[in-house]
Amino acid sequence: VREAGEPVDETELAIEGALRPTSLAEFVGQQKVRGQMQLLLDAARIQQRPADHILLSGPPGLGKTTLAMIVAHESGRPLRLSSGPAIQHAGDLAALLSSLTPGEVLFIDEIHRMARSAEEMLYLAMEDFRIDIMVGKGAGATSIPLDLAPFTLVGATTRSGLLPNPLRDRFGFTAHLEFYEPEELERVIERSAAMLGVSLPPAARAEIARRSRGTPRIANRLLRRVRDYLVVHGRAGADIEAVDAALDLYDVDRIGLDRLDRAVLDALVRRFRGGPVGLGTLAVAVGEEADTIESVVEPYLVRIGFMGRTPRGRIAMPEAYAHLGVPAAESVLG
Ligand code: ATP
Repeated sequence: VREAGEPVDETELAIEGALRPTSLAEFVGQQKVRGQMQLLLDAARIQQRPADHILLSGPPGLGKTTLAMIVAHESGRPLRLSSGPAIQHAGDLAALLSSLTPGEVLFIDEIHRMARSAEEMLYLAMEDFRIDIMVGKGAGATSIPLDLAPFTLVGATTRSGLLPNPLRDRFGFTAHLEFYEPEELERVIERSAAMLGVSLPPAARAEIARRSRGTPRIANRLLRRVRDYLVVHGRAGADIEAVDAALDLYDVDRIGLDRLDRAVLDALVRRFRGGPVGLGTLAVAVGEEADTIESVVEPYLVRIGFMGRTPRGRIAMPEAYAHLGVPAAESVLG
């Protein structure tokens, strides 16, 4: 999943890849999840079997793909990358599963977007390392069982609520990734700055962390923009002014909200008078997909206490009014 305005540029993606930690020890934050995964991987290593299937959920950019790569790397197994939208028929999945080598780690990103028919095939594959392939149609149709090499599935989803229970139940380990604390993001930035050769005093690092929306991918991206700024202005190192100048240019505000976050807040506060308003209505008002609002924008606004979810819809919290500079009473006038 990519956020609005994210780079699709090849070089940018290559840098993002180069900044990925390759071991759990290098992976910053998410302490509980890290401990649980370490145990799972250690047990598999001792018993010389593939690790249990793992489901990772959480907003984009928090490290799901990185963790899948770490699972493969730490267990010394190859990794195969796929995604839900690429699996539109059971046949797509059958081809993928039957080509796995013993112990391979299969990563399926956005697993909630896989075709229903493939989902059912996956149940059996995860449980018994076997699939049934249907041959022919109607009365003459027969199913041919096919044994698979044992594998570890790592599924990632921004919306674990959209996964059917039978699928969710077949994962031996389920983890939800939380937004990162500013101190954790500072560590991500420190590590990346060293790798990119950017000199960054602690105050500048803290400022980038504050504007990173609790998300390592955003922290790394903002760091690259600061680096660009330094290159263009012929400066050796970044101070707070340089960080502010670079990030203001990219429309990231003082607490890390981007254009879409602010558009959603603005619609909620001014147009819908603080709500409650339904997700679909809110999405139309800002011209975005409801799914993007729900899986990318909303989790962070809820986390920082700007937005609330009620059975009747989304509401603006007092902090949101304060941030937009709208007196709470005035909003009622629209
Ligand atoms: P999506 O679901 O959008 O693919 P994701 O959750 O899979 O997102 P990743 O692609 O794994 O996110 O991570 C994005 C970037 O953030 C990577 O470049 C990675 O280096 C960095 N990153 C993520 N988590 C961490 C972490 N805990 N420590 C250090 N770097 C991290």
